[in-house]
Amino acid sequence: MVTVTSQISCSHCGAPLPVQPGEILITCSYCGFTSVVETGKAFEFEHSLVLNTIATGRAFEVVKGWMKNSFIAPKDLSKKSSVLEQNLVYLPFWVVSGEATSHYKGIFERVAPAVEKEGDIRNHYDWLVLARQDANFPTSAYHLSLEGEIPFEATKIDKNAKVLNSELTLQDATQRAHDEIGNLHQYLAKDRVDRIVEITTTFDVSSTYYLHSAVWFLTYGYKGKRFQVLMDGASGQIIKGDLPGEDFNLI
Ligand SMILES: [Zn+2]
Repeated sequence: MVTVTSQISCSHCGAPLPVQPGEILITCSYCGFTSVVETGKAFEFEHSLVLNTIATGRAFEVVKGWMKNSFIAPKDLSKKSSVLEQNLVYLPFWVVSGEATSHYKGIFERVAPAVEKEGDIRNHYDWLVLARQDANFPTSAYHLSLEGEIPFEATKIDKNAKVLNSELTLQDATQRAHDEIGNLHQYLAKDRVDRIVEITTTFDVSSTYYLHSAVWFLTYGYKGKRFQVLMDGASGQIIKGDLPGEDFNLI
């Protein structure tokens, strides 16, 4: 289904909001209110914000600190690299909370003779789903500092930051959380049995909300090549960083 919509009006303040293809929700950059693109009506879920704490002039300094602490980075990397691009982006997430239970049956082969074993894996999760269809973003490596979380407020967002909108419905996000947790439990079950015969996962969702969190996308240059770093804007933690010579060092 492709809806060709170029613009809707904010359901709160009436400001014109440009809609990109595929966007499900849109947050007004004037008043911070979120509307549902399809209906043009107000979005009824809780909407939170984790703010950036790193000044634009300091972002690359934080990256340099990470370079200095890296065991595999070239020794002169922090001195000889320079920042080529840096963008602060507020990424949209769905936070899906609930209790997930997997029941597994498998074969335990570490003893002779092998025995059949079954059991449950049960955990509570506040699972983070990136609300973009086609983003190359390592969500599983991203640990949100939910402590800095506040209700969404457009005026608190840096003027030069880009705010991306959700391309997933809540149903899409819940399904994705269910699938990802199922994969995690499958991985955990492999620790308990050597061969999984059957595993089923149920996910009992207790609450969901929408969240924007600050991430720096930086590109740096080193010896004529370009490398990308993703940094959590709230904590300054490197989410994912490319380093020169990684392939070489892995040999
Ligand atoms: Zn508005």
